[in-house]
Amino acid sequence: MKDNIKDKVIVITGASSGMGEAAARHLAQKGARVVLAARRADRIKVIANDINGEGGEALAMVTDVTSLEDVKKLVDTTVAKWGRIDVLINNAGVMPLSSLDQAKVNEWDKMIDVNLRGVLHGIAAALPIMKAQKSGHIINTASVAGHLVFPTSAVYSATKFAVRALTEGLRNEASAWNIRATIISPGAVSTELLEHISDKDVQAANQEYVSKVGVPPETFARMVAFAINEPEDVGVNEIIFRPTAQEL
Ligand code: NDP
Repeated sequence: MKDNIKDKVIVITGASSGMGEAAARHLAQKGARVVLAARRADRIKVIANDINGEGGEALAMVTDVTSLEDVKKLVDTTVAKWGRIDVLINNAGVMPLSSLDQAKVNEWDKMIDVNLRGVLHGIAAALPIMKAQKSGHIINTASVAGHLVFPTSAVYSATKFAVRALTEGLRNEASAWNIRATIISPGAVSTELLEHISDKDVQAANQEYVSKVGVPPETFARMVAFAINEPEDVGVNEIIFRPTAQEL
């Protein structure tokens, strides 16, 4: 089968740590040109320098996905540099889990802004360009929590259920323009995601669980590479992966 990753221009949000970082490094090793987007400038610059130092091609762009202007600039700068955008991985996300009765409305808003509005901003910025190219691929990171709801996950799950609905709608509408859409729903992966849970009991319980069963972020990178590498007439529409030991 023909290699379908090499030379592709791939933009990854949430690339400063965890799964986004792993995906950037892995795809660059496979010959893609990668654009790393996140708010922490120092982190994405170091990763991009590493990739470039190893003979890859990477660009770091400070981006807050809650800002449509930032995301448009990210996509436009990519196209100005490399002439096109082949893949957008809307991966940035936050997961401050808590029970609804605590009414942590600021955290609810944050999850909606990053996990859902951030993905919409990516689609708004990239879709017109991909439509004109008559090719493209949008990969959205959902979650196992986008398939089921557990205590403390109501709002997070709501955003991830929404990401799945949105991605299926995108697949449906954009198939006419030869654009592929993929939902990737990870289970427990060992990353920095739990660091921002403000309810310390919930945080400790999740950290204990993920430290026991969590798989490394490179797992996500392999799934992304698989979806991209399939031939252009094949859309890998959804992947769910979990640690084997994860029961839920
Ligand atoms: P990390 O916390 O390591 O990564 C999250 C990334 O999102 C960081 O790069 C962070 O960068 C970025 N981010 C957060 N807010 C913004 C923002 N406003 N603008 C731009 N970037 C932002 O966690 P993961 O790698 O685990 O998370 C990646 C995705 O995977 C998320 O969507 C998460 O919901 C999802 N997921 C994770 C699971 C897990 O078990 N780890 C399971 C299922 C899904 P910065 O702070 O520099 O902006």
